Amino acid sequence: MARYDFDMITLGAGSGGVASSRRAGSYGARVAIIEESRIGGTCVLRGCVPKKLLVYGAQFADAFEDCAGFGWSVAPPRFDWPALIAAKNKELDRLEGIYINMLKNSGVEIIEGRGVIVDPHTIEVAGRHYTAETILIATGGHPTVPDIPGIAHVISSNEALDLAALPRKIVIVGGGYIAVEFAGIFRGFGCEVVEIIRREELLYGFDDDLRVFLAQEMRGRGIEIHTRTNVARIEKDAREGYSVFTAIGQEISADLVMYATGRGPNTRGLGLKEVGVETTERGAVLVDEWQRSTVPNIYAVGDVTDRLNLTPVAIAEGRAIAETLFNNNPMKMDHNDVPTAVFSNPPIGTVGLTEEAARRQYGDDVDIYQARFRPMKNTLSGRDERTFMKLVVDGKSDRVLGCHMLGPDAPEIIQGLAIAVKCGASKRMFDQTVGIHPSAAEEFVTMRDKTVRQPQKEAAE
Ligand code: NDP
Repeated sequence: MARYDFDMITLGAGSGGVASSRRAGSYGARVAIIEESRIGGTCVLRGCVPKKLLVYGAQFADAFEDCAGFGWSVAPPRFDWPALIAAKNKELDRLEGIYINMLKNSGVEIIEGRGVIVDPHTIEVAGRHYTAETILIATGGHPTVPDIPGIAHVISSNEALDLAALPRKIVIVGGGYIAVEFAGIFRGFGCEVVEIIRREELLYGFDDDLRVFLAQEMRGRGIEIHTRTNVARIEKDAREGYSVFTAIGQEISADLVMYATGRGPNTRGLGLKEVGVETTERGAVLVDEWQRSTVPNIYAVGDVTDRLNLTPVAIAEGRAIAETLFNNNPMKMDHNDVPTAVFSNPPIGTVGLTEEAARRQYGDDVDIYQARFRPMKNTLSGRDERTFMKLVVDGKSDRVLGCHMLGPDAPEIIQGLAIAVKCGASKRMFDQTVGIHPSAAEEFVTMRDKTVRQPQKEAAE
């Protein structure tokens, strides 16, 4: 008789947990997955997927504006927010059904409820004990907000995806992925948008040129960005709205206040400390390169480890565990050169090192190539928006260290370039590649002139 009920029990049926469980199941492992909410996790139910559907919805505003330049005349369009939300929810139901079927087809047992680890091989769900050789923690994360007076009045991205009605005016606090994406969504649907950030620029950690360019384009679309400030308190006002008071004494009124000030790992109450699983100061599960926690048979993947909090990373980490444990194919996730996109309007796609990171690592011998141009579509549409592209190259080896883009289709274009960067392609190889004409993407293989920069030492003086 088997020693344990299962070979692996996964806590959390989000992207990472589902991917790992399915892959393990496909190799014949006996797997159960425990979920207290719906199957699908943040990406499918409260993040990437519904967000992208709203991004698509908001983009129609541009299409209606731009089409006149191409000879179209349309009656003033009307927009029905509840209809979009209902359609989006229907799609999420469909996806959840697919996830459930995929798990069942891989032989994975779904256990509904909240799981608590009671010893390194046992999980309790609603008073029942389940045992497993391996435990995988894939419980994801949740939005976090600072503790300021009136914080109870704010919404997070969870609620923003399901509002009963669109606000006339919204204040969004934060300058990360979620804040800029929702700023673009709400602006596209015609809301007044004020974004409050505590730094000088949005998207800390992204290439500085991209950050400056994105703020310009967002302001060009009518989004107000208040920099170097923070919110001191929020009060409900007399007319069903809110007053946001900033630390520098400004008062901004709005119908809705959204916070997108980061996410924290879901580890509370899981019993981790009791069984010896160490966590970071922020509560994330500490793992080694094999995704193993400080208890050798307990693993963790995805946002609960709080490293690169991206769905495809969680999926790759989860599959690596299944390959290692159940297919005799030891596999580690490589966290270098992971491409990412921000579905702001216009969107960003990026892979590899920023100019700042490259200079820290490679010194002054870093070459920069840039292109700024008006996309062809904007000639007839009259839209006054530019696309920005940048290559960061190691001056010594000629290797392309980073590709960055802001403009229509940037996420689609960067995905292909990520393969080149991962393969260690040189700038010369980029130059030898024939462009696709006419396209925006061809600019990445036709950048000839280095951008002249002040050497850093001189610039600092
Ligand atoms: P981020 O960590 O990206 O950004 C948080 C923002 O909030 C930063 O601008 C940060 O400022 C600011 N902030 C943090 N604390 C405070 C505070 N107390 N007061 C004011 N501002 C504050 O988090 P998000 O919530 O935007 O997204 C969470 C994660 O989800 C992302 O890191 C990403 O990994 C993932 N994600 C990925 C997406 C994609 O791939 N397209 C889309 C959405 C989310 P500062 O820079 O100064 O710290």
